[in-house]
Amino acid sequence: MIEVTLLGTGSPMVDPSRAGPSTLVRAGDQTFLVDCGRGVLMRAAAIGVGAANITALLLTHLHSDHITDLSDVITTRWVTTFTRTPLLVIGPPGTAAVVDATLAALAYDISYRIGHHADITEPPSIEVEEVTDGVVWGRDGVRISVAPTDHRPVEPTIGFRIEFDGASVVLAGDSVPCASLDALADGADALVHTVIRKDLVELVPQQRLRDILDYHSSVEQAADTAARADVGTLILTHYVPPLTPGQEDDWRALADKAFHGRVELGDDLHRVEVTPRNVR
Ligand SMILES: [Zn+2]
Ligand SMILES: [Zn+2]
Repeated sequence: MIEVTLLGTGSPMVDPSRAGPSTLVRAGDQTFLVDCGRGVLMRAAAIGVGAANITALLLTHLHSDHITDLSDVITTRWVTTFTRTPLLVIGPPGTAAVVDATLAALAYDISYRIGHHADITEPPSIEVEEVTDGVVWGRDGVRISVAPTDHRPVEPTIGFRIEFDGASVVLAGDSVPCASLDALADGADALVHTVIRKDLVELVPQQRLRDILDYHSSVEQAADTAARADVGTLILTHYVPPLTPGQEDDWRALADKAFHGRVELGDDLHRVEVTPRNVR
């Protein structure tokens, strides 16, 4: 069984009840944080997960809403571990530069803490792996593979496929439908996909907001991808505009038009247990 928790179901639009994009995937005794948007560690704390418990941070892309709290993850990991515990970050090319720039912004803080605490003698330890394709993880029964997605002009962007104990979960991140995402998601037990409501966003009078229409999947497009890939469960997140209570059935109905499997959506901390279907 793989456990998926939507830590943050929000987007760049600030919403008082939705943290920024972030999903927690637990497989056996390994815990993967996928993206680290606004408020991620507050949400993780609500289910008993701290920065020290993260096996690896996986980044789908470097848009600000998906990495807002990278600084918090780095610092909190650093000050809450008592032996050298490198934070492993797996992301697209550019990730190392973002990590280095974040550490540069933290340079004063790092010097203050090293100066103040006798048992903190070195800066945060971070190992970055930049990837675009292929198998990136194989440890204690967990396998993670990566493939390019299409969020242009943001590139490169990647999706992750996490497999454990016969179950598989794919995290698409922000993407329009594309062949490489279809292949990554092929036959997966669950697909976590960010979505926007194109029918609502195209009514907004500001062109700057309507600009997002061309590089995100609508609910219907995510459902099409799920159907083409024959996934078991479609998990929707990153709702634009923010999903308000009572609207869930409207979003679900749009997904149901194209996809006939289980559809999951909801508030922050919505949790889905993903088990192998054993059938195609
Ligand atoms: Zn994005
Ligand atoms: Zn986004």
